[in-house]
Order: sequence, then structure tokens, then C-alpha cells
Amino acid sequence: MNKDALEGLSEKIASQLAAAGAQSWLPAPVRPEPPGRPTAGALPAWAASAQPLSDVAPVRRSSGHPRNRPDYPAMVVAERQAAAGRGPSPFTAGSKEGAPRNAAARSPREVSIGVSNRHLHVSERDFATLFGAGKSPTAQRAISQPGQFAAIETVAVAGPSGRIEGVRIVGPARGQTQLELSPADGRTLGIQAPVMVSGRLEGSTGGVAIEGPAGKVTLASGVIVAQRHLHVAPADAKQLGVADGDVVAVECGPAGRRVTLHDVVVRMGPAHATEMHLDTDEANAAQVGSGDRAQVVAVARGGRPSSRRRPLVTERDVVRMAARGEVVAAGGPYLLTPAARDRAKALGVWRETP
Ligand SMILES: [Zn+2]
Repeated sequence: MNKDALEGLSEKIASQLAAAGAQSWLPAPVRPEPPGRPTAGALPAWAASAQPLSDVAPVRRSSGHPRNRPDYPAMVVAERQAAAGRGPSPFTAGSKEGAPRNAAARSPREVSIGVSNRHLHVSERDFATLFGAGKSPTAQRAISQPGQFAAIETVAVAGPSGRIEGVRIVGPARGQTQLELSPADGRTLGIQAPVMVSGRLEGSTGGVAIEGPAGKVTLASGVIVAQRHLHVAPADAKQLGVADGDVVAVECGPAGRRVTLHDVVVRMGPAHATEMHLDTDEANAAQVGSGDRAQVVAVARGGRPSSRRRPLVTERDVVRMAARGEVVAAGGPYLLTPAARDRAKALGVWRETP
């Protein structure tokens, strides 16, 4: 059948159907019948509103399937392997032998961890008592902080309930003898040493005897658990976004033992190399060791939150303050609503200066 014959046939069929009374020989569009009969009052099953949302707009959840999640364990393993190379901190390169400076590959707020075992800073006089007149600490190896060293000499420390041998002396000699312990060491000795910033010994405890080959020193004070701290070299301060006296929070540890350490005191100065110092208890809790990395995650300026929010004082507060005999001052440690200001003026308790 050729094209002309086909068209002819179509016309013939159309005219036959028209003659039979049909409106059109083309079938009218028909909405498909819904499956089942809708019950009275219920939305028909085929209404879009009755469909589950995922049918209407399929949802792709970013975290729905494990393959969409970052592989945190693998990231942590990679990071720990980098640390296990014992490469120096990008901030302390030069103070330790090891891999070249590689700051670009690291987060700008990353610092190296140094774990401090129990140790003794000793005054010249006490050292002479312990090791003999005229003697001074002999350097065995340099430690991360410039000018300081682990000495060859060790002492024994005896407390009310226990004794610890082989406590390393850290030189050079200081003005005042200071014994730094972990809380677990304190329990071994039977003393409770306060957590304090190293070097500030007001309120530190005593009650232990230091025993050297030549003599014995009983400490009435100077025993502390060192407040965890972050030494910062001035050159690194800007990158870390910290200043001397700040208190920072630092995150560290492998998956499963990851911790955020709060109250890490920043100590900055030319005699400091950038490194966070933890005691052995803290390091064990977070399962980190010297050379592992940590991340500064929050900074409080000078020990106070950086965003000091002033409370809002309302008109009602002003009435209460006036009743207590207080004055309301412009520039006080609060924010005043305009109505509060007006009320304070009306009540005669307004001052233009704080
Ligand atoms: Zn330190």
C-alpha cells in the first residue's frame, strides 16, 4: 500500500465514523482510573498529596549511605602515620631533627603535642643538697623548650603512701624547686597536688621528700600538677590566632579516643617553642604521644570568652534597680532599652558616666 492509498483509506474511515454520529474519530483523552475505589472522606490514592514525598521528589541524602560519609577512621590513621614519622611540628621545625618544614600540607591551627613525664625543676641550693656542694645539673639531651634540658641526674620522691624512683631533673637550675606530677603520681605518693600553671606556686602543696645521692630535701610547697598549656613562639602567634594568656580548647587523639581539652593556657614568649604540653594522664586518656598532632579549635581571650555579651536591662529591671537604691549609668556593663533609659531618667537614678 502506497502513501496515497493510505491517505485515501484514512479519509474513508473518518467519513464513515462521522456518518455514524461520532464527534471525532480520535479517542478522547481519558484520565486513568485510580486503583481501587476511594473511600468517602479520604484523599484519592492518586492525589499527589497522598503520595510519599520520595515518590514526588526523590531525596538524595548526603549521609544516608556510608559511602557518602567522610572516612574519619582512615583520615585519622593517615594523620597518625604522618605524626609517627616523628616529623617536627611545622611550628617547631628547627628545634628537632626530622622531616622538613611542611606547613602548607597542615592545618594552620595544628600544633605538636609534647607529653611531660613527672620531673623536677630544682633550685641551685636544693641541687647542692641532693647531689653535693658545687654541683649543678648536667645536660643529657635538649628538650623542646629552648635552653632547657633533661639532666642526667634523677632523684627519688617519697610521699606519705608511696615512693617514685628515677624522677628526672629538668635543667637549668631555677629560683625555686618545683615538682611536676600527674594526678596518678599524686595518688601513688598519697598527696593531692593542685592543678597550677608552672612557675606560679602560691597555693601549691608539699609533704614530699626528694632524695638524692648526697642528701634529702623536704618540700613544704612546690608540688603541682602542671596546668596543660600551649607554648607559642611569637612567630606562630598570628597563624594560630592566639596571644599570651589566652585559654584555648584543643582537639586531639585517634578515632575512638578523640577528646577536646579545654583550659589549655597559652604561654607565649621568645623562650618558647610552639608545642602543647600534657601530662601522662592526659596523654593516656586521649591516647596521644609526643609528636602527635592537635588542633586548636577555640580561643578565649585572656581567659574570658571572646564575645563578652552584656545583659539587656529593661524598664522593669530599672524599676527594680531603683528600688534597691542602685543607679543606672550610660556605658555600664549592660545594654539599656530606650524605655529603660527614659524610666531611669524619670526615676532620677540616671548617670551619664558609669
Ligand atoms: Zn611546658
